Amino acid sequence: MPRDLAILACSECKRRNYTTTRNKRTVTTRLEIKKYCRFDKQRTLHRETK
Ligand SMILES: [Zn+2]
Repeated sequence: MPRDLAILACSECKRRNYTTTRNKRTVTTRLEIKKYCRFDKQRTLHRETK
């Protein structure tokens, strides 16, 4: 089975900063997490992308 990989991209600079795995049984919505972006040097909203 392929791993259910989710890529988190910064909503400000569009860079893909984080990858994570998600569990579709528990997470049904698109991931939106505030994380530190080293390119923006601040915490920004990161969204799941393909
Ligand atoms: Zn950024």
